[in-house]
Amino acid sequence: VPFDQMTGKIWFNGSLVEWADAQVHVLTHGLHYASSVFEGERAYGGEIFALREHTERLHESARILDFEIPYSVEELEAASRAVLKANNFVDAYLRPIAWRGSEMMGVSAQANTINVAIAAWQWPSYFNPEERRKGIRLDFAEYRRPDPRTAPSKSKAAGLYMICTVSKHMAEKKGYADALMLDWRGQVAETTGTNIMFVKDGVLHTPLPDCFLNGITRQAVSKLARKRGIEVIERAIMPEELGSFQEAFLCGTAAEVTPVSEIGQYKFTPGEITFSLMDDYMKLVDPSLEEKKLAAVG
Ligand code: PMP
Repeated sequence: VPFDQMTGKIWFNGSLVEWADAQVHVLTHGLHYASSVFEGERAYGGEIFALREHTERLHESARILDFEIPYSVEELEAASRAVLKANNFVDAYLRPIAWRGSEMMGVSAQANTINVAIAAWQWPSYFNPEERRKGIRLDFAEYRRPDPRTAPSKSKAAGLYMICTVSKHMAEKKGYADALMLDWRGQVAETTGTNIMFVKDGVLHTPLPDCFLNGITRQAVSKLARKRGIEVIERAIMPEELGSFQEAFLCGTAAEVTPVSEIGQYKFTPGEITFSLMDDYMKLVDPSLEEKKLAAVG
């Protein structure tokens, strides 16, 4: 079913509306000039993981694009929960989005209303589940993450995804699942929708998030690793170094923890650390997992 033909309820500027009625005008500023910011959240067992962090990030993303979301963090949190409930979802992906409306057309949009919507749908796995355990294959992207002086890299701004969609399409056309983007300096940055981590001799190495999102999943996984006594080093990683890592994995709300088996000419074997962190992450986000497992066994 095409996405715009699904059914269910979407929270739209303060009320729950039918899926088909959540429409915008073709002269929406957000569409023409990318004045739009969004979030990606997941609910597990009826609870939205890190809802406060995501909602605060949405507010901050908007502020960076010089607009104020007309709903408080608490109001948006209640709206997210209402969307889950209205659609009878227990496990789901949520997509809050805020954008400048259609009252003014042109680069300047001082008087445009700020619109907010929250949709939810069932999105079990961002990457092919069969490929997931053996690791996915990444290409190198042509585009690089921009210098923070060139783009608002701390905002989860729709406009920053232009180079992600193009990079992902180019990788998919060549048979890869995704693309690894370098940053403007040529350092390893992230994929088109996730952060990335590497394992070398029992230690985690991950790029410093100084020109891309410091993902909520990335931060949670770093904490889980440290809890296991695994050292986490944030540093500049050059692509030439990739051959020295034994394991590689992605982290993001949609992708959760996904092992990587290849990046261009470099090969990795998903191993103990990746699998332990995958399990730790699933247990953290879905406390009902243990009960479900026991129920399945019993
Ligand atoms: N980088 C990009 C480009 C992303 O789209 C995402 C997903 N929001 C992430 C990193 C990971 O962020 P998070 O863990 O907060 O979902």
